[in-house]
Amino acid sequence: MKLAVVGTGYVGLITGVCFAELGHEVVCADKDSGKIEKLRLGEAPIYEPGLQEMLWSNADAGRIAFTTDLAAAVRGSEIVIIAVGTPSTATGEADLSFVERAAESIGEALDGPKTIMTKSTVPVGTNARIEAIVASRAKYPFRVVSVPEFLREGYAIRDTFNPDRIVIGTDRAAEIEAIVELHKPLTDRIFVTDVRSAEMIKYASNAYLATRISFINEIANICEKVGADITQVSAGMGQDRRIGPHFLNAGIGYGGSCFPKDTKALIQIAGNVDYDFKLLKSVVEVNREQRNTMIRKLREYAGSFSGKTFGIWGLAFKPNTDDVREAPALDIVSRLIGEGARVRVYDPAATANFRSLLNDPSIEWCTDPLSAAKGSDGLMLLTEWNEFAEVDLRAVEQTMNTPILIDGRNLFGDKIGAYSRFWYYSVGRPHLN
Ligand code: NAD
Repeated sequence: MKLAVVGTGYVGLITGVCFAELGHEVVCADKDSGKIEKLRLGEAPIYEPGLQEMLWSNADAGRIAFTTDLAAAVRGSEIVIIAVGTPSTATGEADLSFVERAAESIGEALDGPKTIMTKSTVPVGTNARIEAIVASRAKYPFRVVSVPEFLREGYAIRDTFNPDRIVIGTDRAAEIEAIVELHKPLTDRIFVTDVRSAEMIKYASNAYLATRISFINEIANICEKVGADITQVSAGMGQDRRIGPHFLNAGIGYGGSCFPKDTKALIQIAGNVDYDFKLLKSVVEVNREQRNTMIRKLREYAGSFSGKTFGIWGLAFKPNTDDVREAPALDIVSRLIGEGARVRVYDPAATANFRSLLNDPSIEWCTDPLSAAKGSDGLMLLTEWNEFAEVDLRAVEQTMNTPILIDGRNLFGDKIGAYSRFWYYSVGRPHLN
């Protein structure tokens, strides 16, 4: 099939490359000319395991092309995929301006009957709005189908080829053969529903996952006070099939480009119909507070931050990505330097993105974990990259000025027992403090 992808970010690029890998002809459009220029040169503008190689092979095979000319991408395509961003507005609502501009351009560019497939996460009613915008401009028949995206950054290619399910939202089930055909090679678990329910499935899924994280973090905080170990508690809970083992890792809370904005948007969606989503408000509040726990613990061990140097391991909001949007590290590093500390930071992939959001003379950009720890008065692990689990902790301890280790992701666990000189704090595990 001939596919046009509008918006070539984390979702659009992965989607485009994976469909090209399946043999489709894909044109990815983005208004960011710098991004398109890189892609034309064969360079992936984001870090995602496996992406670079798959981009090269499909570009070489002529199955994927990149353009800033959205109309050219849309012309000649059978399916147009909307994958533009839906960030938060100042009040927490989803900013639909990118989706609306994309719909306007698609409507103007339609040169024949097409299916428009919305992958962006959009509030209930938005696909109807997209349909109205396109209809006011289009001279040809078209249909809008909601196909929300569930991939995880860091596992995006694996998730695209092995989705748990594909949700297809349509109010005209007879008209979705092309969309079903497109997804059949990925899975036979295709869930067809109405558009509004599809839109809600995406928000409800993210809100539920965020709820599990805040829930387990609160249990972890209680564990610390009552002398239980959260890793044992999670393992024991997860064996119950009604609960399951996933998303029960205590830590510094969620970040990233989805959970923070989608939870806030769902609170607003509920608020717009006079429903006070009390549970989700608490989830957001608990998540915000969890970051402060790390700072409090560091202060307890290290005293005042002024004039001290701290090492930071991990800047990305989670491992295997360079995405730092809403990453806990942004808050934590800002707090430390705001209180007069210097920080030495290291991340395997996210340093450049972090630096573009937070650049300060008090931050030293290190190129390996040991140099970030060197001479520091405390070290905080904020992202559980595998690389950190493999570092020789004895060498870390020896290079530090004061061996304080705040493990915000419970990465080291019992391993730390061999390094008795560390003052070690991990989340919800009092016996290791
Ligand atoms: P992103 O910010 O990485 O990419 C969006 C891209 O769209 C940008 O490159 C931007 O330049 C481009 N764009 C915006 N308006 C445009 C226009 N009118 N024409 C052409 N290009 C335009 O965003 P993302 O992380 O890929 O997320 C996209 C959507 O998918 C969001 O709604 C998000 O909530 C959802 N989503 C994201 C993930 C994820 O893990 N990132 C997972 C599931 C769903």
